[in-house]
Amino acid sequence: MALTPSGAAPRAAYVHVPFCRRRCGYCDFALVAGRDDLQGAYLEALGAELGRLEAPLAVDTLYLGGGTPSHLGADGVRRLFAILARRVGPVPGAEVTLEANPGDVTAGFVAAVRACGVTRVSLGAQSLAPATLSALDRDHSPDDVRRAADLLLGAGMEVNVDVMIAAPGQTTADVEADLDAVAGLGCQHVSVYCLTLERGTAFEARRRRGDLVPVDEATERAMFLATLDRLDAAGLEHYEVSNFARPGRRCRHNETYWDHRPWEAFGPGAARFDGRTRIGNHRSPFTWMRRVLAGEDPAAEVERMSEEEAARERIVLGLRRRDGIDRDRFRAAAGMPLDALLGSVLPRWVAAGWASDDGRRVRLTREGLLLSDGLWGEVLAPAGGGTGGAGEGRPAASG
Ligand code: SF4
Repeated sequence: MALTPSGAAPRAAYVHVPFCRRRCGYCDFALVAGRDDLQGAYLEALGAELGRLEAPLAVDTLYLGGGTPSHLGADGVRRLFAILARRVGPVPGAEVTLEANPGDVTAGFVAAVRACGVTRVSLGAQSLAPATLSALDRDHSPDDVRRAADLLLGAGMEVNVDVMIAAPGQTTADVEADLDAVAGLGCQHVSVYCLTLERGTAFEARRRRGDLVPVDEATERAMFLATLDRLDAAGLEHYEVSNFARPGRRCRHNETYWDHRPWEAFGPGAARFDGRTRIGNHRSPFTWMRRVLAGEDPAAEVERMSEEEAARERIVLGLRRRDGIDRDRFRAAAGMPLDALLGSVLPRWVAAGWASDDGRRVRLTREGLLLSDGLWGEVLAPAGGGTGGAGEGRPAASG
């Protein structure tokens, strides 16, 4: 078993399932669309990659993301869990999340995944408005989302709903109406992301041709603020830049990433972390499968951080959370004081109204959260030296 620098085994695992029926126009995730014929080889390769663990791994959280894990269907999910069970064992009370397309969720599918030990389903809903779903190139309907949420909640499962804002043609009033409708589903957790036009995607090509007009920055900002207000009013606590939960229902798996605790990861594009080093598998499902099945190492990227770089990344992850950073806990975990790393940056942020500091805990304000992507460079690569990267093991956006 891969141990962490502290000698402890990771307590979390991520498995990437790289299949979708079709590729949405904005998506650049590691996946293949319309190649269900490869599912058998994928499962075989996953079993081989799990053989890297020298001993079974007991985990508090397990996250099956993608791609669209629900695209495997009930039988495919059963086979996946049978393979995982050889090496990865969720402990009693573990959080086991599976990402699902709302159109895949039937009563039979819910019963099957519950029997496999899934406790939480993340629905790639994106919107409950037909026009927004169409603008986002999605293949499910608002009724699919409502029916899936009802089935899952009725079966006693935890449900996250992924929502996308800043879709082409969307207005702030549309976002408000959408979020009210999403909150009305009664799910325990909502993740909200702004549409980004990644290089190499169909949406980016349309933007270059002039066929797609992105939402402007001022409107995107208004949409983000409206999101905070609407979900707060609905009793969903904003606990991380993109994440909202009812009390006690935060995503435990993602908190592992944000706490900078170690995790294991398997599958194409999946990245594991031991507290200091991040190792990412090859993103191409074909290359990952070929290498694993040939007995070769599927890793494509290794990022080794110094103690200071790891501490700086810990600051970024901490400030993305509304709880912010407790100075004493930070020093105990990172091995160095917060203020020595931030230097004059923090007083400047406080003076500008971007951060608050009560002497014990540092947090970003609403204004700071709006700017946050533009602030991280000052933490990760301060003037005078120090570098680092703020990657995630896997963003929680689902298909
Ligand atoms: S957005 Fe989700 S459903 Fe669409 S292609 Fe990407 S992973 Fe698949």
